[in-house]
Amino acid sequence: MDLNTVETVSAPRERAELWPLGPTDAVLAGGTWLFSEPQVETRRLVDLAALRWPSITVRDDGLELAATCTLAEVSALSRRLPAERAAWTAAPLFHQCCSALLASFKIWHTATVGGNVCLSFPAGSMISLASALDGEVVVWRPTGEDYQMPITEFVTGASSNVLAVGEVLRALRLPASALSGRTAFRKLAPSPLGRSGIVVIGRVDADGTFVLSITAATVRPYVFRLPAVDVELVRAAHAGIPSDAWTQDAHGDPDWRRGVSLVLAEEICAELGHP
Ligand SMILES: Cc1cc2nc3c(=O)[nH]c(=O)nc-3n(C[C@H](O)[C@H](O)[C@H](O)COP(=O)(O)OP(=O)(O)OC[C@H]3O[C@@H](n4cnc5c(N)ncnc54)[C@H](O)[C@@H]3O)c2cc1C
Repeated sequence: MDLNTVETVSAPRERAELWPLGPTDAVLAGGTWLFSEPQVETRRLVDLAALRWPSITVRDDGLELAATCTLAEVSALSRRLPAERAAWTAAPLFHQCCSALLASFKIWHTATVGGNVCLSFPAGSMISLASALDGEVVVWRPTGEDYQMPITEFVTGASSNVLAVGEVLRALRLPASALSGRTAFRKLAPSPLGRSGIVVIGRVDADGTFVLSITAATVRPYVFRLPAVDVELVRAAHAGIPSDAWTQDAHGDPDWRRGVSLVLAEEICAELGHP
C-alpha cells in the first residue's frame, strides 16, 4: 500500500550516513511488513539496500547472515552447505525454518532476516532458526558502538525486543558448534503454508548436550539446554514455561499450544534419542 505520510526516502551508502534515526524514521529492509499496513507515524524511510552488506559470510567458526539477507538466500543454504561444510549437519533447518511462516514467492525473495527478527512476532521464523542454533544478533548503535546478544535476550515478548530508537540490526551470527549438531524440526500451522502456531526444534551436540527450542507457541523463544536427550527432563522444563507465555491469537489457543508443543518435543526426543 502507499505510505502517504512518508515525505523522504534516504539510501545511506555508509554506516555513518544511517544516522540520525528518530522515532518518525523507519528502517526499510524488504518492506513486506512496512508496506502491508498504514504507518501513520512514519515520515521517512531509511533503505538499507544501498549499504550492500554481503548476505552470507561463511567462516570456520560459523555463519553470519546480514540483516538484509533474504529468506530465499537463507533457504538456499540447506542445499549449499552440505557441499561446502559437510560437518554442519544442521543445514536442513535453514529451509525448514523459512517454510515456517506465511510467505508467497514474492515475500520469500524480498523479506529479510533483520525485518523478521525486528518485528519479533511469535511466528518469526528467523527467530526460530536463531533460537535453535544459539544465534546472536549484532546491533549497531548510533554512537558508533556495536553490541552482540543471544536472540533469547533480544526478543522480549510478542512484537517486542530490546532495540532502542536509532539502533540498527546488522547481522545474525550462528556458531559452528551449533551448526554441527543433529537436529529435528516440528511445525504446526492451521494451514500448510500459513503462519506457524507451534515450532519445536531439537539439537544434539557432539558432547551429547540436548538443546530444545520452543517458538511461535510462546510469545518469546524458550530454549532449554539439557545434559542429554531425556524425556523426563524435557517434561519438567516444559512445565516451567509460565502460563501467560503461551501465545493467544487466531493461529491457535494457548491450551492447544501448551499441550501439542509437549507432544512434539516428545517426538523429537524419540527421533534424536538414537544416534
Ligand atoms: C501476508 C503476510 C504474512 C506474514 N506472515 C508472517 C509470519 O508468518 N511470520 C512473521 O514473522 N512475519 C510475517 N509477516 C511479516 C513480514 O513479512 C516478515 O516478518 C518479514 O520477514 C519482514 O521482513 P522485511 O525485510 O520485509 O521487513 P520490513 O517490512 O522492511 O521491516 C519490518 C520492521 O522491521 C524494521 N527493520 C527492518 N530491518 C531492520 C534492521 N536491520 N534494523 C532495525 N530495524 C529493522 C522496520 O523498520 C520495520 O519496523 C507477514 C507479512 C504479510 C504481509
